[in-house]
Amino acid sequence: MKIAILGGGFTGLTAAYYLAKKRHQVTIFEKEKIFGGLAAGFKQEKWQWYLERTYHHLFANDTDILNFAKEVGFNKIFFKEPETASIYKISKSEILNYKPQSRINSAHGKQYENDQNSKQKSLENLNLENSCLFSASNLEFRIFPLDTPQDLLKFPLLSFPKKFRTGLVLAFLKFSPFFSLYERYTAKEFLKKTMGDDVWNTLWRQLFRKKFGKYAEIILASFIWARIKKRTKKLGYIEGGFQTFVNYLVKKLKSLQVNLLTSYEIKEIKKRGDKFLINNQIFDKIISTLPTPIMTKIADNIFPADFLQKLRKLEYLHALNLILETNEPLLDKTYWLNVSASQIPIMGIVQQTNFIDKKYYGGGDICYLAWYLDEKDKLWQMDKEQLLAFVSPYLKKINPNYSNTQLRNYFIFKAPFAQPIFDKDFVKNKPDFITPLKNFFIANLDMTYPYDRGTNYAVKLGQEVVKFIHDKKIF
Ligand SMILES: Cc1cc2nc3c(=O)[nH]c(=O)nc-3n(C[C@H](O)[C@H](O)[C@H](O)COP(=O)(O)OP(=O)(O)OC[C@H]3O[C@@H](n4cnc5c(N)ncnc54)[C@H](O)[C@@H]3O)c2cc1C
Repeated sequence: MKIAILGGGFTGLTAAYYLAKKRHQVTIFEKEKIFGGLAAGFKQEKWQWYLERTYHHLFANDTDILNFAKEVGFNKIFFKEPETASIYKISKSEILNYKPQSRINSAHGKQYENDQNSKQKSLENLNLENSCLFSASNLEFRIFPLDTPQDLLKFPLLSFPKKFRTGLVLAFLKFSPFFSLYERYTAKEFLKKTMGDDVWNTLWRQLFRKKFGKYAEIILASFIWARIKKRTKKLGYIEGGFQTFVNYLVKKLKSLQVNLLTSYEIKEIKKRGDKFLINNQIFDKIISTLPTPIMTKIADNIFPADFLQKLRKLEYLHALNLILETNEPLLDKTYWLNVSASQIPIMGIVQQTNFIDKKYYGGGDICYLAWYLDEKDKLWQMDKEQLLAFVSPYLKKINPNYSNTQLRNYFIFKAPFAQPIFDKDFVKNKPDFITPLKNFFIANLDMTYPYDRGTNYAVKLGQEVVKFIHDKKIF
């Protein structure tokens, strides 16, 4: 069988591997110069390791990709426990009432204060800081680790009973199987009902707003179930970066005679009976791993209108990343920082070099600033210089010692349609492997629901689509 795979990310590469093992003739069409899709990396002259265009790690329970790596003989995945935390604005009265319990990661470069003097120090910082960006004179920004139940108990912005109740609900979500109930409520309704209004406002509201923008309040509770279920303290990374695994797979696919085409953007697909014409070649089957809005555009002329209409009801946000390569880290200790302070218009900050040794990046500190945006957002329209200028005053707020003079280099990456909106319409209209066209299959990141996208699920999808086609004896 001649099979075309559209898209050379982890889903396409994995599907190609299993199809080639079953001795099909496989061609992958990839629009970019390199394979890897959303997990692709890049390298600078002085760097030993690739860096992903958008931050990437694995969870300890990502068994599909871990087992796949074993199966193909790739053994360069390792695990560590970097810190994740959230940054909040905290008022003078909250500081005065706050008795530090153990580790508080100050946003001002002074890590882990754990003595009673910290209250006084905080006030000193506060006075210094008020001259900066925000008009409110009694605000300070502080970072709180939120990795473990103990961290939650030490979190100063909620009372003990509220934290206890939150802990119980999180434990329930962690250990419960998926219930259809999670699709009947929005995350906001569910979290407010189970944890209370105050916890929703303090812990969740900004996170949802920053991740899902105008869709924040219609995201289903299934999303939060999956996030809590999956999260592990241990995070995995790949020696050499995710691109090293991609390159390894590409080599393997070459040895299995897969035809690997890069810089080949599919713009149109034609039907020839039950077969398809791409690049002047006839294919018996197509597996599309492209984002749904791209697929519906290029396959506009071959799919029935009602099918296209259903898929066009799905909504997405785009992912924007600004990567800073600096002489000093923006964050002292934290790897992953949720920006829970509404005054700082950044979704998340990922200090890669608090996870992976900076020696692999020529001694520079690497930090991602991340957003999810719709295409009308002014930030999405910006080039890297404009984005840096926009964001710089806020970086100073997070770390007053930060200055752009510390910058060695910076990069911008834009990934369209990278975040599906998991609302009620999504559940009704999301694609399936099977389509109205007999030999045209879809396997893309919409289908990892209720789990948020991930290379683990891309591998799983690649495996499952091949198994589906074989089990149904569609060959
Ligand atoms: C901001 C962000 C952070 C993430 N963090 C993590 C993480 O920490 N850990 C993790 O495991 N996963 C993470 N992911 C998700 C992970 O990268 C994806 O789930 C996974 O890479 C998806 O693989 P895929 O093959 O399904 O899709 P993609 O990687 O999107 O592959 C689709 C391919 O199709 C190509 N293409 C598009 N249009 C055309 C066309 N017309 N013709 C030909 N080719 C085309 C694209 O270039 C792309 O290579 C993250 C994603 C984002 C956006």
